[in-house]
Amino acid sequence: PIGWGLIGASTIAAEHMLGAIRAQAGHEVVAVMSSSAQRGREYARKNAIASVPESLDALLANPQVQAVYISTTNELHKAQVLAAAAAGKHVLCEKPLALTVADAHEMLAACQAAGVVMATNHHLRNAATHRKMRELIAQGAIGRPLFARVFHAVYLPAHLQGWRLERPQAGGGVILDITVHDADTLRFLLGAEPVEVVALSQSTALAKQGLEDGVMAVVRFDNGVLAQIHDAFSVRHAQTGIEIHGESGSLVGRNVMTQHPVGEVVLRDARGETLLPIAHENLYVRGVAAFCAAMRGDGPPAASAEDGVRSLATAVAVLHACKTGQRTPVIL
Ligand code: NDP
Repeated sequence: PIGWGLIGASTIAAEHMLGAIRAQAGHEVVAVMSSSAQRGREYARKNAIASVPESLDALLANPQVQAVYISTTNELHKAQVLAAAAAGKHVLCEKPLALTVADAHEMLAACQAAGVVMATNHHLRNAATHRKMRELIAQGAIGRPLFARVFHAVYLPAHLQGWRLERPQAGGGVILDITVHDADTLRFLLGAEPVEVVALSQSTALAKQGLEDGVMAVVRFDNGVLAQIHDAFSVRHAQTGIEIHGESGSLVGRNVMTQHPVGEVVLRDARGETLLPIAHENLYVRGVAAFCAAMRGDGPPAASAEDGVRSLATAVAVLHACKTGQRTPVIL
């Protein structure tokens, strides 16, 4: 069997990733690491995980652990990825990979040098809705794409109202949390790269310590597309969605910027409106399956380390644009 170590006793691991790893034949979670021995033990008991190593080194020294899933707060990802790579473990890391683009490059390079797979857990690429939209855009169903609109304003659930709202040093704020997903999804759908951004942020409802809980940005892509992005932690009743508008048609994804296998996609063109058939699938199970295949040498992960570097670069540009009020290039 292939053993996994969880680095971080996190909500996302408990709610989605444990199940996704356990859904893979021959894969098991053998250890979980927490910065608090007591919380680690409690988490392991609740989630039926056998061992709670007392340090990162102890987790990485376990020969049963062949892959790690890193879902600590964002400032910790870098050192943990570097340590995992040095120990020869494959790495599935949460977004944002790091707080700076230079750090993310260093993580990617360390995994390459160690010959281990590194992937970014951008789950939205695994959604059947987004895969359908990508396929149709590539087939020319809407002609040349001109504009995109992303609706990703949500309400941060009470049990997650912690470091995201009050710890700048942990990489809190809606831009590092949600804008990275939008950037990755747009890159995935359009097959194009972000070039420059303008943006304004808001800190009105929940966020403290200078962090933002809402943002509106416009991103220009290298194929000419202008993408409008609206992300928030503070909006209770907006539905999420993504729209791609092309010269000969528009694709409208409703309720698709989500962790769940739901939502619908409509194509509007000269023939009218067509609701597309979607075979929904668990996003995290599909993402972990691609990562497991990549560990066997069978194809790339759903979102690579480089994809994580690029989504972070866009988020960093949006942060800079908000801070300075300036049109900001996306710098890799
Ligand atoms: P959590 O706040 O649940 O967990 C982050 C860390 O906080 C844990 O590693 C844990 O530290 C600590 N922690 C957890 N619960 C408590 C508690 N009750 N008291 C004190 N400390 C606690 O964060 P999320 O699971 O929401 O996010 C973790 C990472 O995953 C982030 O990088 C985030 O961006 C990413 N994420 C990605 C998603 C995706 O779909 N791709 C979705 C959600 C999050 P320790 O491990 O030391 O015990």
